Amino acid sequence: MKKDALYRLQHTFGYDRFRGEQAEIIEHMAGGGDALVIMPTGGGKSLCYQIPALLRQGVAIVVSPLIALMQDQVSALQQLGIQAAFLNSTLALDDARQVENQMLANQLDLVYVAPERLNTARMLELLRRAEISLFAIDEAHCVSQWGHDFRTDYLKLSLLHEQFPQIPRIALTATADERTRNDVIQRLGLGNAKQFISGFDRPNIRYLIAPKQNPKQQLLSFLKNKHQGDAGIVYCLSRKKVEDVAEWLSQQDIETLPYHAGLSADIRQRNQHRFLREEGVVIAATIAFGMGIDKPNVRFVAHLDLPKSIESYYQETGRAGRDGQPANAWMVFGLQDVITLRQFIESSEADDFHKRIERSRLDAVLGLCEITTCRRQVLLAYFGDTLTEPCGNCDTCLYPAETWDATEVAQKALSCVYRTDQRFGVNYLIDVLRGSENERIQRFGHSQISTYGIGRELQTTQWRSVFRQLISRGFLNVDLEGHGGLRLTELCRPLLKGKQKIQLRKDIKPEKKIRSETRKSASFATSDEELLWKTLRAERTRLAKEQSLPPYVIFHDATLMEMVAHRPASLDEFSRLSGVGESKLEKYGESFLTVLSRYRDGADTQSDTVNETLQLFRQQLDVEEISIRRELKSDTIYRHLAQGLEQGSMKLDEVVTLSHQEVAQIEDVILALPPDQHCSLKSVYESFNEEYSYGVLSCVRAAWRYKTHQLRQENSSK
Ligand code: ADP
Ligand code: ZN
Repeated sequence: MKKDALYRLQHTFGYDRFRGEQAEIIEHMAGGGDALVIMPTGGGKSLCYQIPALLRQGVAIVVSPLIALMQDQVSALQQLGIQAAFLNSTLALDDARQVENQMLANQLDLVYVAPERLNTARMLELLRRAEISLFAIDEAHCVSQWGHDFRTDYLKLSLLHEQFPQIPRIALTATADERTRNDVIQRLGLGNAKQFISGFDRPNIRYLIAPKQNPKQQLLSFLKNKHQGDAGIVYCLSRKKVEDVAEWLSQQDIETLPYHAGLSADIRQRNQHRFLREEGVVIAATIAFGMGIDKPNVRFVAHLDLPKSIESYYQETGRAGRDGQPANAWMVFGLQDVITLRQFIESSEADDFHKRIERSRLDAVLGLCEITTCRRQVLLAYFGDTLTEPCGNCDTCLYPAETWDATEVAQKALSCVYRTDQRFGVNYLIDVLRGSENERIQRFGHSQISTYGIGRELQTTQWRSVFRQLISRGFLNVDLEGHGGLRLTELCRPLLKGKQKIQLRKDIKPEKKIRSETRKSASFATSDEELLWKTLRAERTRLAKEQSLPPYVIFHDATLMEMVAHRPASLDEFSRLSGVGESKLEKYGESFLTVLSRYRDGADTQSDTVNETLQLFRQQLDVEEISIRRELKSDTIYRHLAQGLEQGSMKLDEVVTLSHQEVAQIEDVILALPPDQHCSLKSVYESFNEEYSYGVLSCVRAAWRYKTHQLRQENSSK
């Protein structure tokens, strides 16, 4: 009898429990049913066919459109001790024959196959002779012409149903608008399949959208403040800008590689390869980059230009945080973007019908940018999903935007457009409103009109914000000729007649926001933790290089974070980390334990500054006295003492003046955190409304760690 699903999850994959609907889907597949699975990126779709593949007799055939990824997908499975292989055009003939023979000999659990190959006589013959456990059709939306990833070869996949009706099939995708979903069902003959549809939300992605001031500087401070050493993607509209941004960031010590269709295939491949194989590489790219980028630890996606639709925005930002760890989707937009995009549509060759579609797509993007309520609610609503409460993890939730009654100002702006005959651009209109005395205004005689100089109360930047919002919200349109001249639309009437009021968003200076929150996505409370994290990451890279694998195939970030939090000291403790199954324990347990123990010893001898604090403490000085004597902040002293506490060389009540009850409460909050966040004190700090300093909290946590470590040792020696 084969082992059951939960056993496989825990022993092969090293995870504690199923996520979302995984358990139901796996049970359904293992029992031989057909399924359609719609789950957001990072939701854990792969396990839905990988575990049934292990539970059922025979080999599972996984159809995937991304040949470039197959090698990595197969390597990741092999790391888990699973028998996997792939068949695609990159394989030498002999190697392909070998895979075929292994299939016939029932020596494989999973085989990844490119869709074009599936339709060949040879392959069909092979499928008839081998024992097949199931068919999994990954990226199933490729069968639909509505999506952007349509693949003709996917249409032929209906033959699976026709020729192998008794073999269970599972189709999976993250794209779930209704049209696409219906296409998938119809074209793949999944009418009787059970549907498992989860929402669209990507709760670990934080959406941050700000008005452009100085975009490059804004990007730089975002990266320096929040993403030192992280991998991420910066999207730009043009090739030139991609090159420019890549070069500029690299000069600022952020290693950035360019990627766009104008580069030779060689360079593109090399840059993509480095992005996947090395830690902390940033890619500056046009939208040519990203399809099939399966790197789980992309920590941010930044947009320096507006995407052309919400669908593109969601797909591009969706490449961040596939591993479920916190990630940022950052974007800046400005008046010029709004004008350029509007102009682009108006002056295109498309017919009216298509222009109307393009306009409404753009309106949705601009609406998302200008909104003053929760961004995630708007995004999800666009896809027909409802989020009842504001998310608390987007910029408008975190730093609520202020609005102001701009009715009168808007009337002034619109009248000025009208009085100057609807042919001038924003800069000129602002000059007229502010009563500038320039030569053009004289020449056109606009110093004589009623709107000349009626807008001196606002600065030029404020006027630009007003115009941007009026254009975004459709009160003004851009001329067809492409000079940037503005025209009134029908929407203006009630506003101009005073029958409608308008609230506009106050643009906040972005620097202010960023400084108030300088957290990194992988947030560590102490530099000690950060150092250990880097050391572990280096070990991961070393092991990956040895085998020419991408580092995340060794362990995901979440598993390394758990090592930082729990500091396992034995194979048994190591095996309890999430993401450590039997195969990886055997392969890598010792290596990482050695690094951890070396680090522990190093920490003992290295940190003279910690020892100095500990010595003073043993001489009965309290935290305040030590802090004065050493000219260090008391928080720093607490953190030094935390190290003593973690080694058990002192007691918590000697260090902090907290009641037992308070300590218990803090411990409860730490315990309630998901294990991979045990090293982040930020949420603990926030749950107590900042009542306890980080220093005090790190002492409580250190004492708790010592206590649990002792308990574990007692248990294992019994
Ligand atoms: P998708 O294909 O839906 O984008 P993946 O299958 O790549 O998602 O899974 C995303 C991440 O979540 C991977 O790192 C995977 O190992 C992890 N994961 C999946 N299921 C679980 C689970 N039950 N517990 C913990 N981690 C999981
Ligand atoms: Zn929100």
